[in-house]
Amino acid sequence: MDQTLIDYETLAEWLFPEVTETPEDMEKRYPVRGLPEGAVVSRLAPSPTGFVHLGNVVQGLTSERLAHQSGGVLFLRIEDTDAKREVKGASEILIEMLSHYGIVFDEGASLDENGAICDKGDYGPYKQSNRAPIYHVYAKKLVREGKAYPCFCTEEDLDRFHAEQEAEKANFGYYGKWAKWRDRSLEEIREQLDSGTPWVLRFRSTGSIEHKFKYNDLIKGEVDITENDIDHVLLKSDGIPTYHFAHAVDDHLMRTTHVVRGDEWLSGLPFHIQLFQALGFRLPKYVHIGTLMKMDGTSKRKLSKRKDPELALSYYKSVGYPTDSVVEYLMTILNSNFEDWRRANPLAPLDDFKFSAKKMNAAGSLFDLAKLSDVSKNLISRMSAEDVYNAVSEWAKEFDGEFYDDFTREPAFTKAVLAIGRGGNKPRKDFATWSEVKGYMGFMFDRYYEANGAYPDGFDAGTIADILTDFLSTYSSADDQTVWFDKMKDIAEKHGFARETKEYKASPEAYRGHIGDISAFVRVAVTGKQNSPDLYAVMSILGHEVATSRIQKQIERLRG
Ligand code: GLU
Repeated sequence: MDQTLIDYETLAEWLFPEVTETPEDMEKRYPVRGLPEGAVVSRLAPSPTGFVHLGNVVQGLTSERLAHQSGGVLFLRIEDTDAKREVKGASEILIEMLSHYGIVFDEGASLDENGAICDKGDYGPYKQSNRAPIYHVYAKKLVREGKAYPCFCTEEDLDRFHAEQEAEKANFGYYGKWAKWRDRSLEEIREQLDSGTPWVLRFRSTGSIEHKFKYNDLIKGEVDITENDIDHVLLKSDGIPTYHFAHAVDDHLMRTTHVVRGDEWLSGLPFHIQLFQALGFRLPKYVHIGTLMKMDGTSKRKLSKRKDPELALSYYKSVGYPTDSVVEYLMTILNSNFEDWRRANPLAPLDDFKFSAKKMNAAGSLFDLAKLSDVSKNLISRMSAEDVYNAVSEWAKEFDGEFYDDFTREPAFTKAVLAIGRGGNKPRKDFATWSEVKGYMGFMFDRYYEANGAYPDGFDAGTIADILTDFLSTYSSADDQTVWFDKMKDIAEKHGFARETKEYKASPEAYRGHIGDISAFVRVAVTGKQNSPDLYAVMSILGHEVATSRIQKQIERLRG
């Protein structure tokens, strides 16, 4: 028998004596999924750092659409191999939040009825920290085949190599003359093992940076790949795998067909391709999503955790964006043809849209809060008053207890206000978030009514007071809207204001103002603001007593 082969067998036994299972056992335990041709198996593989961000939703939505519209499977894998970054409870929060965004997993890490993490599905465990024995089966296989070896270098050794490489202007990494443990004898290795020196398992790369080839990413298109020549770490000294090794083993055994992930991983692709080959795994398709960008002045930059609160998912919850608005907006930036489709199918469910990785922006989509707000205003304008009421109540209960008390005290009253301008072909688009509702209709409650509201400029207080006095003396809550408005026009005429805006526009010098100014005076008196929902409706919902007493007090204030 070849001497080297024997050595590798021995080495594999030394390093992984506890591993008795084989890759064949794994293949049997996690068989190829019996899915129809073309069904996509995709996943979201977040690290539970406690920071759930838009990128998680973007990747989640992309995976979800690709999987579900092809009749495939979406699963969630928790990548908790970096214990330093892990935050307790983060996985639970993540699952909870993603489900609000309609990203529901068929299998993977899930919550049981007590809200604790559990595994659902036949391809688990779905938490990487519970998969050590599985990684070790493949680590042993690689060692046995001479494709991986133990390295006993210390941090100081590695720092020294780095400094040398810097001085020599060489590429950084563990390769060439710096790959100190690549070709050591069994005796030398035995000696280190016996003295208990910590070791990591490294990949024995056979790649060369002289070799380049093309790879076709589903979003990026054709990308140039330079072969990897670094002997990267596969297992850390505690036996926990690096991202790269876990990615290859997990996505193979979980039978992932499409790896959807952020394009910060693109630089790792040469190594991943190499690793899949070395392990004898079929390479999945890669879908590398560009980082979300935003405009900063005239230049584009990546959304940053430090500078941009809108990167955190918690932002949307606390400000009160409906999750549907966020999803709808993300779809518009994820697929370039989504907006056209939406215009043609205004009411169709999102699932009817044919999502395609090819329509995604290779360079990273531009995220714009103002556009999100437009989308959200539209979406909210089509909701029923009842649904808006329920959503605002839920939001306010958590984020604005004082407003919650007023808002929910008399549901029929509140819903009547929310119903103003709703329904019909051109519903009002007044607010984009639930936190804006207080500014929109808070004046309906005494607590938020602004008694010092500003009247339109250019009119003296006495004139406004006289007009309000006339309004009060003719106002009847029994009048229909036309009679109510005609009475206002009469008051306008009496005080030298045009009955119609267009008359005023034709000869502004002939009037002191126009009917719009008269209604603005009444509006400010009743609502404290120059903008409000339909004034006639507001006054009828407020009721005669409240509406007229507010006007009366304003007359007194104006006469000071
Ligand atoms: N755990 C990696 C991350 O959080 C996942 C990358 C992947 O999806 O493969 O970025």
